[in-house]
Amino acid sequence: MLSFSTYRSKRRFVQALSTIIIIVLPFLNVLRLDIPTLRFYFLSSVLWVDEFYLLFLVMMLILWIIVIFSMVYGRVWCGWICPQMVLNELSGWLEKKTDRWLRISRTSGRPDLSARRLAGYALVSAAISAVALLIGFNLVAYFTDPYRMLADLLTGRLGSVESGFIVGIAILVYVDVMFWREKFCTRACPYGMMQIVVTDANTQVVRYQRERAHECIDCMACVRDCMMGIDLRTSPYQTECIHCGDCVDLCTAILKRLKKPTLITFSWGGRERGRTWYEKLGLIDAKRWIVLSITAVYAVVLAVLIDARQPLALSATGDGSTLFREGKNGVIWNDYTLTISNRSLNDGAFLIECTGKLQAAGRCALQLLENPVFLKSREVRTIRFSIGASSSHLRPGPNRLALTAVNTSDPNIRAATEVAFFTPQHEWNQLRVR
Ligand code: SF4
Ligand code: SF4
Repeated sequence: MLSFSTYRSKRRFVQALSTIIIIVLPFLNVLRLDIPTLRFYFLSSVLWVDEFYLLFLVMMLILWIIVIFSMVYGRVWCGWICPQMVLNELSGWLEKKTDRWLRISRTSGRPDLSARRLAGYALVSAAISAVALLIGFNLVAYFTDPYRMLADLLTGRLGSVESGFIVGIAILVYVDVMFWREKFCTRACPYGMMQIVVTDANTQVVRYQRERAHECIDCMACVRDCMMGIDLRTSPYQTECIHCGDCVDLCTAILKRLKKPTLITFSWGGRERGRTWYEKLGLIDAKRWIVLSITAVYAVVLAVLIDARQPLALSATGDGSTLFREGKNGVIWNDYTLTISNRSLNDGAFLIECTGKLQAAGRCALQLLENPVFLKSREVRTIRFSIGASSSHLRPGPNRLALTAVNTSDPNIRAATEVAFFTPQHEWNQLRVR
């Protein structure tokens, strides 16, 4: 039975949930940049390489949400969600368990090279190495097809580039967790630095109620158990504080025995929790409402833009080796390669046809192996085809012809492109003579 009576239990739940989400996101194609196919999977949409301006706008939105989150909730991300902190705590927990299991004491402060100590170190190293490799795999899965990569891994066919990235990331994670841990958060993390810039006087902090300092019994529990090694009583604005809430739990439990309320609380701009629902969510001034409203409008416009995209794309390039072929009855044929992509979530049949004046006059013929073309959802097909037209109806030399692909069950889903159609050179000459 889950109990959320303390901040630590709530934090563990949020950490577990966010870790699961981070692991499964690439497998669900909810947020993934597929580098081999240059496609960006975002929620239920797939953005293609020619739509990467939308990717930029999506990235801006994600960044902006992170900024707002930091402005309202401070470093709650660090203490409650950040995978780095999850790893730090996991490795600390592993060390404690191993020490207890092997009866290793760390109290002497002197270097300990005993067999037990080395065995404990080897055990923790092996566990962290395994976790680091999993993290490497998961991170690379955000940039390629995770199912294909998993199949390749299981059958021993994983490519050297992917293997190299996985091992490289794993080495970085291992060094980080075994040697840096919290030092990375306080000295190198870019988010921590950015967070200092966006906070203001009304940002959430963990505060020691200095006005009640005479009630503090100096038990030092809040200092001793702070994983960032700080004394919050000196200031609530220490950059090391990750707003985990552990000291709130400790002080609450200790002063409860003395029938006193805690001296350490989460607070907004020096005040304790708000009264209304929006104050409880941290929306305590006009600045926050304005920033939130702008973000909501931006998100809605972006959603409309993504939804309004045509789920079909068409392009064609001429055969560079033969400009044209002369057929019977003065019909000229040009060869092309057509690329058609079904970007929707549904399978469909797409009719390719000439459009424009030639088609209206019935003077344009298409030669395709199949028409309509059947495409699965997100399938791209490259097809060789030919267009035939009478040169008497065309300008000598290059002409622009329009091609259209239409979904046979929904004519609103269509895409168009233009191709260059060449007629023979002697037609030019005849025209010049005339
Ligand atoms: S001071 Fe309290 S809230 Fe801040 S990191 Fe330490 S235990 Fe967590
Ligand atoms: S846990 Fe509470 S009572 Fe103990 S030192 Fe910290 S603030 Fe004072």
